Amino acid sequence: MITKSPRPPLPNHLLSHPVLLSAIQSADRDRLNAILGEILKSNPPALDIASSALLVNGPSTTDDIENKEEPRKRYEKCLHCDEEYDVLDNEENSCGWHEGQLEPDYDSNVWDDWDEDCHGRIDDQEEAFPEGFVWNCCEAKGDDDEPCMVDFHVP
Ligand SMILES: [Zn+2]
Ligand SMILES: [Zn+2]
Repeated sequence: MITKSPRPPLPNHLLSHPVLLSAIQSADRDRLNAILGEILKSNPPALDIASSALLVNGPSTTDDIENKEEPRKRYEKCLHCDEEYDVLDNEENSCGWHEGQLEPDYDSNVWDDWDEDCHGRIDDQEEAFPEGFVWNCCEAKGDDDEPCMVDFHVP
Protein backbone atom coordinates (compact mmCIF):
# COMPACT_ATOMS: atom_id res chain seq x y z
CA MET A 1 0.00 0.00 0.00
CA ILE A 2 1.32 3.39 -0.94
CA THR A 3 1.16 5.95 1.86
CA LYS A 4 1.38 9.64 1.15
CA SER A 5 3.52 11.70 3.47
CA PRO A 6 1.28 13.53 5.92
CA ARG A 7 0.59 17.19 5.29
CA PRO A 8 2.05 19.51 7.91
CA PRO A 9 -0.42 20.60 10.59
CA LEU A 10 -2.17 23.95 10.32
CA PRO A 11 -0.52 26.69 12.31
CA ASN A 12 -3.00 26.55 15.22
CA HIS A 13 -1.56 29.58 16.98
CA LEU A 14 -2.93 31.58 14.03
CA LEU A 15 -6.51 30.52 14.77
CA SER A 16 -6.88 33.71 16.80
CA HIS A 17 -5.96 35.61 13.60
CA PRO A 18 -8.43 33.99 11.23
CA VAL A 19 -8.09 36.61 8.51
CA LEU A 20 -4.31 36.30 8.49
CA LEU A 21 -4.61 32.50 8.44
CA SER A 22 -7.00 32.69 5.52
CA ALA A 23 -4.71 35.14 3.72
CA ILE A 24 -1.78 32.74 4.13
CA GLN A 25 -3.83 29.82 2.87
CA SER A 26 -4.98 31.63 -0.23
CA ALA A 27 -1.74 33.43 -1.08
CA ASP A 28 0.13 32.07 -4.04
CA ARG A 29 3.41 30.29 -3.63
CA ASP A 30 5.65 33.05 -5.02
CA ARG A 31 4.12 35.56 -2.65
CA LEU A 32 4.64 33.26 0.33
CA ASN A 33 8.23 32.62 -0.78
CA ALA A 34 8.89 36.36 -0.90
CA ILE A 35 7.33 36.91 2.53
CA LEU A 36 9.26 34.01 4.03
CA GLY A 37 12.42 35.49 2.52
CA GLU A 38 11.70 38.82 4.26
CA ILE A 39 11.06 37.09 7.60
CA LEU A 40 14.30 35.12 7.33
CA LYS A 41 16.34 38.19 6.39
CA SER A 42 15.62 40.00 9.63
CA ASN A 43 15.18 37.12 12.02
CA PRO A 44 18.01 34.67 12.87
CA PRO A 45 15.80 32.39 15.05
CA ALA A 46 13.40 32.07 12.12
CA LEU A 47 16.35 31.03 9.95
CA ASP A 48 17.04 28.21 12.41
CA ILE A 49 13.41 27.12 12.38
CA ALA A 50 13.30 27.10 8.58
CA SER A 51 16.60 25.23 8.33
CA SER A 52 15.61 22.50 10.75
CA ALA A 53 12.19 22.12 9.13
CA LEU A 54 13.36 22.12 5.51
CA LEU A 55 16.92 20.76 5.54
CA VAL A 56 18.55 17.53 6.54
CA ASN A 57 22.19 16.45 6.66
CA GLY A 58 23.54 13.49 4.79
CA PRO A 59 23.84 12.02 1.31
CA SER A 60 20.75 12.20 -0.87
CA THR A 61 21.24 8.68 -2.20
CA THR A 62 23.37 5.77 -1.07
CA ASP A 63 25.85 6.40 -3.89
CA ASP A 64 26.12 10.11 -3.21
CA ILE A 65 28.91 10.11 -0.65
CA GLU A 66 30.68 13.21 -1.93
CA ASN A 67 28.49 15.73 -0.16
CA LYS A 68 27.93 13.70 2.95
CA GLU A 69 27.88 16.55 5.40
CA GLU A 70 26.22 19.15 3.22
CA PRO A 71 22.72 20.12 4.24
CA ARG A 72 20.16 19.27 1.61
CA LYS A 73 16.45 19.67 1.11
CA ARG A 74 14.27 17.61 3.42
CA TYR A 75 11.25 17.69 1.09
CA GLU A 76 11.51 16.96 -2.59
CA LYS A 77 8.99 16.67 -5.34
CA CYS A 78 8.93 13.21 -6.86
CA LEU A 79 9.56 12.80 -10.57
CA HIS A 80 7.26 9.81 -10.78
CA CYS A 81 4.20 10.55 -8.66
CA ASP A 82 4.51 14.34 -8.61
CA GLU A 83 3.96 14.39 -4.83
CA GLU A 84 6.09 16.13 -2.26
CA TYR A 85 7.84 13.55 -0.09
CA ASP A 86 10.01 13.50 3.02
CA VAL A 87 13.53 12.28 2.16
CA LEU A 88 13.75 10.80 5.67
CA ASP A 89 10.68 8.69 5.00
CA ASN A 90 11.40 7.21 1.59
CA GLU A 91 11.43 3.45 1.25
CA GLU A 92 11.47 1.03 -1.63
CA ASN A 93 7.68 0.89 -1.69
CA SER A 94 6.95 4.54 -0.90
CA CYS A 95 6.14 5.54 -4.46
CA GLY A 96 3.67 4.04 -6.89
CA TRP A 97 3.08 5.19 -10.45
CA HIS A 98 2.35 4.04 -13.97
CA GLU A 99 5.00 4.12 -16.66
CA GLY A 100 2.48 4.50 -19.44
CA GLN A 101 -0.45 6.71 -20.29
CA LEU A 102 -4.11 6.54 -19.45
CA GLU A 103 -6.05 5.78 -22.63
CA PRO A 104 -9.76 5.56 -23.32
CA ASP A 105 -11.09 2.02 -23.16
CA TYR A 106 -13.56 2.19 -26.03
CA ASP A 107 -14.88 -1.28 -25.12
CA SER A 108 -15.99 0.00 -21.71
CA ASN A 109 -19.76 0.29 -21.39
CA VAL A 110 -19.19 3.79 -19.95
CA TRP A 111 -19.02 4.95 -23.59
CA ASP A 112 -21.96 2.93 -24.90
CA ASP A 113 -24.28 5.92 -25.17
CA TRP A 114 -21.60 8.57 -25.24
CA ASP A 115 -21.99 11.20 -27.93
CA GLU A 116 -18.86 13.35 -28.20
CA ASP A 117 -20.88 16.14 -29.83
CA CYS A 118 -23.01 16.69 -26.75
CA HIS A 119 -21.10 15.00 -23.90
CA GLY A 120 -17.61 16.18 -24.79
CA ARG A 121 -14.47 14.47 -26.00
CA ILE A 122 -13.89 11.04 -24.48
CA ASP A 123 -10.17 11.85 -24.24
CA ASP A 124 -11.00 14.62 -21.77
CA GLN A 125 -13.06 12.48 -19.39
CA GLU A 126 -10.31 10.71 -17.46
CA GLU A 127 -11.03 12.59 -14.22
CA ALA A 128 -14.80 12.29 -14.44
CA PHE A 129 -14.94 8.67 -15.69
CA PRO A 130 -11.66 6.94 -14.80
CA GLU A 131 -13.47 3.58 -15.09
CA GLY A 132 -13.68 4.19 -18.86
CA PHE A 133 -9.89 4.35 -19.19
CA VAL A 134 -7.02 1.86 -19.05
CA TRP A 135 -3.31 2.31 -18.43
CA ASN A 136 -1.42 1.29 -21.57
CA CYS A 137 1.52 0.04 -19.49
CA CYS A 138 -0.25 -2.67 -17.53
CA GLU A 139 -3.90 -2.72 -18.70
CA ALA A 140 -5.04 -1.63 -15.21
CA LYS A 141 -8.35 0.20 -15.17
CA GLY A 142 -8.20 3.94 -14.58
CA ASP A 143 -10.19 3.65 -11.35
CA ASP A 144 -7.97 0.89 -9.97
CA ASP A 145 -5.56 2.41 -7.44
CA GLU A 146 -2.84 -0.21 -7.84
CA PRO A 147 0.16 1.25 -9.66
CA CYS A 148 2.29 -1.08 -11.80
CA MET A 149 5.56 0.51 -10.68
CA VAL A 150 6.58 0.69 -7.01
CA ASP A 151 9.91 2.07 -5.84
CA PHE A 152 11.54 4.88 -3.91
CA HIS A 153 10.41 8.41 -4.65
CA VAL A 154 12.92 10.11 -6.97
CA PRO A 155 13.77 13.82 -6.72
ZN1 LIG B 1 0.69 0.77 -15.29
ZN1 LIG C 1 6.88 9.31 -5.89
